Amino acid sequence: MPLYEYIPIDPEVGCRYCRNGFELFQKISDTPASTCPECHGNVKKTVSLCRAAIAETSEESVQIEKQLKHYEKQEMYSHAAELADTHSEKTNDHGLKTRAKENYKKAGYDISD
Ligand SMILES: [Zn+2]
Repeated sequence: MPLYEYIPIDPEVGCRYCRNGFELFQKISDTPASTCPECHGNVKKTVSLCRAAIAETSEESVQIEKQLKHYEKQEMYSHAAELADTHSEKTNDHGLKTRAKENYKKAGYDISD
């Protein structure tokens, strides 16, 4: 579930609760809050990208890791390589990139660095 951060539209009128931003866990489908629950001042949504990304990535990484192990065990190296490759692009994960290369090599691809 993404974590949304709300900040007052006008920081001058924000209360102690919202002035420095407050966070709400919401479903993507939830209507975004438009006012501060404390002072009812107008607020706007800013997604706290880094925290949302970390939460989602770590969960996703566990899944990827599981899938990778499965492929490697089954000696489906090209599958493993592709999965690791795609995911390493997305997450900038160098460990995965290396793993993709290893798997490409095992799969018989000629990978140059
Ligand atoms: Zn407020």
